[in-house]
Amino acid sequence: MKLVDSHCHINDPQFDADRDAVLERALGAGVDCMVVIDSPEFAEPFPFLYATIGVHPHEASKATEETFARMRNFAAHPKVLAVGEIGLDYHYDFSPRDVQQRVFVRQLELAAEFKKPIVIHTREAWDDTLHAVAQSGGLPNGGIMHCFTGDATQARQALDMGFHLAFGGVLTFPKAEALREAARITPEDRLLIETDCPYLAPVPFRGKRNEPAFVVETARRLAAVRGATVESMADVTTRNFRNLCLPCESRNS
Ligand SMILES: [Zn+2]
Ligand SMILES: [Zn+2]
Repeated sequence: MKLVDSHCHINDPQFDADRDAVLERALGAGVDCMVVIDSPEFAEPFPFLYATIGVHPHEASKATEETFARMRNFAAHPKVLAVGEIGLDYHYDFSPRDVQQRVFVRQLELAAEFKKPIVIHTREAWDDTLHAVAQSGGLPNGGIMHCFTGDATQARQALDMGFHLAFGGVLTFPKAEALREAARITPEDRLLIETDCPYLAPVPFRGKRNEPAFVVETARRLAAVRGATVESMADVTTRNFRNLCLPCESRNS
């Protein structure tokens, strides 16, 4: 069984002490492809790592012209599959909302220019996020709603716009029944899985540091929710990821 962790922060300092062992465990669990957020330099030496490039909404107020120049420099890098994570986070408001919105829109324009899919981070900013995407011309190259935690209504809204929904550890939490309903109604060809590690570890590791190997638990839960086998969920989510983010390679294979 092969799995893709479509969103991880394996470059986080929480992995500094044992990163090699973490990556070994991932490969041992069949997670042979991982996407590291905003870190092409980090992904470079590892054949099983890919990357995104982008300014997180928390960091929006720190973005300068140099930040966007760096994105432009990396746009054609062979490891960079998408622009992300970008979006709006009104829960923490680490950057003022108008700055978040400006930086988000600018990156939506860059993603369109680079012809890359986008990876959205949205928290307590659902309507503004969808509005900004629609205003900027929708999803010409596709997009991922990372760590999707909405209900079936929000899932349908995002799916109607063309988004893939990436389910993470929250899917396994006892109180996440509305999210599981969303996972049940998502068409098979729009499903993705991720860890967002080191955050949001799935049950039975909840509360511990998350790592890519644990994406298996989310795949297992997704299978149970949809009445499918874990193997078929692994196949489906891997194929979806490749079709969205590695279209040239998947045509060749
Ligand atoms: Zn995020
Ligand atoms: Zn993240």
